[in-house]
Amino acid sequence: MIMEKMNLLEECRDAGNILISGHIRPDGDCIGSCLAMYLYLKKALPEASVKVCLEKPAEVFRCIKGFDEIDSTYAVEGDVDVFIALDCEKSRLGEAEEIFANARKCINIDHHVSNERGCGDVNHVDHSLSSTAELVYDLFDRQYMDAEIAKAVYIGIVHDTGIFRYSNTSPRTLRVAAELIEYGFEFPALIDETFYEKTYAQNQLLGRALLESIIFMHGKCIVSAIDKKTLDFYNATPEDLEGIISQLRITKGVECAIFMYETGSLEYKVSLRSCRYVDVSRVAVFFGGGGHVRAAGCTINGTFHDVVNNISKQIELQMDEYEQRNKEAAR
Ligand code: AMP
Ligand code: MN
Ligand code: MN
Repeated sequence: MIMEKMNLLEECRDAGNILISGHIRPDGDCIGSCLAMYLYLKKALPEASVKVCLEKPAEVFRCIKGFDEIDSTYAVEGDVDVFIALDCEKSRLGEAEEIFANARKCINIDHHVSNERGCGDVNHVDHSLSSTAELVYDLFDRQYMDAEIAKAVYIGIVHDTGIFRYSNTSPRTLRVAAELIEYGFEFPALIDETFYEKTYAQNQLLGRALLESIIFMHGKCIVSAIDKKTLDFYNATPEDLEGIISQLRITKGVECAIFMYETGSLEYKVSLRSCRYVDVSRVAVFFGGGGHVRAAGCTINGTFHDVVNNISKQIELQMDEYEQRNKEAAR
């Protein structure tokens, strides 16, 4: 998508109150890009009052400067002149959606294919970039960059690319990462601490999810679920389940992986991943969610079997289309 690059500082120039927020259940990209934006604007616009509101982020992200200044109470004083919504469109802002609705100006910066044009007065949406962090960095005037901002951007990128493993990693992403590490922060430790390291309970949950996974559609799909009882037993939060879907996805022969956990009575949060040809964003959008071509999510009501059956139908449709295309191409 070609879009004229916005001038971020111009857009915020006369703003007294700037509020930054991202999606519910914030991930590394969301937290990294919100804090990068926060650190950058505080430095570039010292007169403005800048604030970040997000649901309580995972403790592992404490290594990012500004972590303690994140407000999870969403208490906003006075009018918001500029609201910056990162890594989502307005329906996933959670408690911040109301603040967004009342702000004088809204800026939306995102990379989800399901967010077609953006939901702000000013939009910077690019589906081709790995992460919102990569997008945000593109808007930063280099004179204000420093090691702490670079680190926040880097965390966003490494989390959304699964440490540069997913197909959203481009030569451009790697060039940006190279520029970032030149600022001189300890990147190997960051990757271990925020991505690979797991608590005992997290490993137990991963183990259970793998053990109880089921393959179907001749091994092309894999599904696993964790119920409320198990989550309660481990006193687990959604962030304790990060990484399960990635492990399911790399099962040999699998094209599409489904992981879900029970969020309420007959309600599941579903994560979808694919390897080569299934567009999981299309599947997620069908169920009212969204995401990217190879990684998407949604919330679906029903029993485990209802959810699997309904999703499978959508995946199967795409697999049939794919086989049909292949047959035609071979003719
Ligand atoms: P998840 O499996 O929840 O980590 O989501 C994978 C990708 O899809 C992430 O980029 C999410 O931001 C996005 N995503 C997940 N759920 C939704 C949703 N309900 N609406 C839009 N995007 C979503
Ligand atoms: Mn995200
Ligand atoms: Mn993202």
